Amino acid sequence: AIHDGLTGTLRHGHVESELKRFVIGMQRKHGLLSAMLIDIDFFKKVNDQHGHAVGDDVLRRMTALVQQTLRGSDLFGRWGGEEFLILIPNCVRADALVLLERVREGIAGYDFPLVGRMNFSAGISEYRGGVDAATLIGQADAAMYAAKRLGRNRVQVYGAEEEEAISG
Ligand code: GH3
Ligand code: MG
Ligand code: MG
Repeated sequence: AIHDGLTGTLRHGHVESELKRFVIGMQRKHGLLSAMLIDIDFFKKVNDQHGHAVGDDVLRRMTALVQQTLRGSDLFGRWGGEEFLILIPNCVRADALVLLERVREGIAGYDFPLVGRMNFSAGISEYRGGVDAATLIGQADAAMYAAKRLGRNRVQVYGAEEEEAISG
């Protein structure tokens, strides 16, 4: 099966092979692509306080909420336990940020049954040629961890700070 049994999103193996295919396609067409990694904040606490079944319910609801904002051409998959990957072709990172901020605000305002408010932290990287799939993911991951360090419930863009520093 290419879909994850719990959330209905694409499974890790399928996301990974699609990611490689996307990157190769972009190299040929000189296109660009935004990659986004999402990690739910303090998810372990949900399992600890309410049990695994409630945790599963949060995962299902959260995926449905993210999915609402995406288009058919976007790729959305389960990257790990409570981590998700979104790939959007022909989307610059600034547009990816606008989209993901909309998703983040929607989720932050959602009342999860029994649990209440839940948030995620996310990192965005942009493919512009010359990098491979692993590098692209590594950059999104680094940005996501920066979002965690900066206090969670936020979206960070890889490389944005460095460029701002250069441009003054
Ligand atoms: P952080 O804000 O730093 O991301 O904290 P966290 O608690 O979300 O992070 P951590 O990686 O410590 O916890 C992730 C938890 O997700 C641990 C694991 O038990 C849980 N998990 C992974 N897959 C599933 C699943 O399919 N269902 C449920 N209920 N829990 C899962
Ligand atoms: Mg995690
Ligand atoms: Mg987490």
